Amino acid sequence: MITVVSLQELWEARQDLPGPVGLIPTMGYLHEGHLILVRQALETCASVVVSIFVNPTQFGPAEDLEAYPRDIERDLSVLKSVGTHLVWLPTPEIMYPANFQTWVDTTDVSQPLEGSYRPGHFRGVTTVVTKLFNAVRPDRAYFGQKDAQQVAVVRQMTRDLSYPIEIEVVPTVRESDGLAMSSRNTYLDEAQREAATVLYRALREAESAYLQGERRGDALRRIMQDTIKAEPLASAQYVSCADRNTLHEIDLVTDGALLSMAVYVGKTRLIDNWILKP
Ligand code: AMP
Repeated sequence: MITVVSLQELWEARQDLPGPVGLIPTMGYLHEGHLILVRQALETCASVVVSIFVNPTQFGPAEDLEAYPRDIERDLSVLKSVGTHLVWLPTPEIMYPANFQTWVDTTDVSQPLEGSYRPGHFRGVTTVVTKLFNAVRPDRAYFGQKDAQQVAVVRQMTRDLSYPIEIEVVPTVRESDGLAMSSRNTYLDEAQREAATVLYRALREAESAYLQGERRGDALRRIMQDTIKAEPLASAQYVSCADRNTLHEIDLVTDGALLSMAVYVGKTRLIDNWILKP
């Protein structure tokens, strides 16, 4: 496994990689949810590149940039053990040199849900993903369904900017009690960790109503709200039942609709989602 930091080192290492090349962008503190992306890439790509960069521009001023967990040594050792070929660890100065003033932004798909509660978040995401795409020039890029709106935004951006890159989406990896794996789960104390299963429970309650014939978006949103309200340590920021490509809320729900939510458990903001299937 080769580890590089500077752009020059990355470009040189990239030249020697046999294709197809797969890219997995991450913010590090890797868990099984990240490794499944790497494993999926290894199945069909001759070379797998993982980037680790806690991207400052996707954090709001009141968010957890400083506190975001980091453990580069452990990340490198697990990436090596699964067979990663190249790891890129750019610094903030490399990604955002002095006098940086060029941004990539989507106009519509980044507005609702996460976009409305985290203004500027997706502008940070699309800008950094653009820079990663330009530097690594992957044939495929892997993203987790865990961040459903990010998937929609990145797909839109990839189409709009004509990148010859296939966006591959990997199902959410969960703990045995249903909690979606996330680097932010480390913020939870024991009682909060237990309460955090409420996201998964709320999604599954709404799914079960859907499978029993409920087709009103409002009713599914209400079920999720009520489930979260019943958990004293949790409070919902939003719940949504939306089209999974546009993220517009829907009244009459059909297969493929996206249930999603952001929930505070203590001070920790957790997100999760579920795609309704027949
Ligand atoms: P992050 O390091 O949180 O930016 O995540 C890097 C990538 O891993 C993103 O595409 C995430 O959607 C994906 N990811 C994070 N957690 C999970 C999970 N539990 N299951 C599947 N993918 C995940």
